[in-house]
Amino acid sequence: MTALPLIQTEPTEEGYFGDFGGRFVPETLISALDQLEYEYGLLEQDLVFQEQLLSEFRQFIGRPTPLTFAKRLTETYGGAKIYLKREDLCHTGAHKINNAIGQVMLAQKMGKQNIVAETGAGQHGVATATACAKLGLTCIVYMGEEDVHRQKLNVERMRLMGAEVIPVTSGSRTLKDATSEAIRHWVTHVRDTFYVIGSVVGPHPYPKMVRDFHRCIGLETREQLDQLEGKGPDHLIACVGGGSNALGLFHPFLEDLSVYMTGAEAAGFGVDSGKTAATLTKGRPGVLHGSLSYLLQTMDGQVELAHSISAGLDYPGIGPEHAHLFTSGRVTYKAVTDDEAMKALKEVSMLEGIIPAIETAHAFALLPEIASSMNKDQIIVVNCSGRGDKDMTTITEYFSHE
Ligand SMILES: *Cc1c(COP(=O)(O)O)cnc(C)c1O
Repeated sequence: MTALPLIQTEPTEEGYFGDFGGRFVPETLISALDQLEYEYGLLEQDLVFQEQLLSEFRQFIGRPTPLTFAKRLTETYGGAKIYLKREDLCHTGAHKINNAIGQVMLAQKMGKQNIVAETGAGQHGVATATACAKLGLTCIVYMGEEDVHRQKLNVERMRLMGAEVIPVTSGSRTLKDATSEAIRHWVTHVRDTFYVIGSVVGPHPYPKMVRDFHRCIGLETREQLDQLEGKGPDHLIACVGGGSNALGLFHPFLEDLSVYMTGAEAAGFGVDSGKTAATLTKGRPGVLHGSLSYLLQTMDGQVELAHSISAGLDYPGIGPEHAHLFTSGRVTYKAVTDDEAMKALKEVSMLEGIIPAIETAHAFALLPEIASSMNKDQIIVVNCSGRGDKDMTTITEYFSHE
């Protein structure tokens, strides 16, 4: 008999999941993080706040999202029954809004009227700007100048909803530099400003907090499967950038050891190509953006630039809870190349009438192998983290070379 993996599903008081997490931030931010942790702890127990959150989830985001049986994918792969958790049907087209609404409501409760965030491809910026417009808070989004040009449509969406988008011209003029600027802004305006982080990364308590706002994904899945099939899932699959949509689906099932879980990392051109974003496969422990986790880095500890065809997975780090689930063996992580993801994207579009985001397509790429090795009475749930409309330019360009 194999030993059961020892897993920790909540952080320690210092914010660690196993060996990973913590708070690696300037001294001036420690008291702000303490205050955040304290207020979040109160609201977790506050039934009125939880009811208000649930109401926004229902009336604004459109939750619960459906759990769709993927009949033609199931027939094609000839194994387990495949269900899709439809986060692509959330308002704004992806799961990110769950967390943005949650954190902006928390900011409001804490009496902070100003929101600051950073964004790479613009998806988290759009979700945050959306939540701020809905709830009436001011919103500043830092974005690398390079990304401002590449993601013009998202910049226009944010500005239309009243957010101020500030182009960052330092360093490589991308997400890494935008994050540093957002943190600098937060340090100097910490009294009236709340920093909204877009994935299960950053200093404690962000990884836990962001995860909790996404747990609705897994909780709904459990209820919906129970109604549809009278039982739970056998295998959960999700793509992993920072790791928020994956943890949202996985977390409510972590203690049920009969449920297998696989995370799809972006391999880019291949894990050994030097152009990859497969953090767990190719990285080593190190500190990035306020916490200790796996990180793509050079021999002497410089952060490496990640590469993935999908902007949302193009990040050299990963949330500390995933690092713990990886080293403990509870969750399996596999690397999926750009080409494998694009092949899956086309297949899902043609077989199911759903064009997934390129991020999401990485999860779908694992399906043929996993589904065909399972029985017909077993169940797989794939988290459909977002829709592909935003990626149509990249998709068209990619397939024009075929
Ligand atoms: C941002 C994004 C991701 C990656 O972020 P996680 O925190 O890993 O979930 C995945 N899918 C979509 C559609 C996204 O927009």
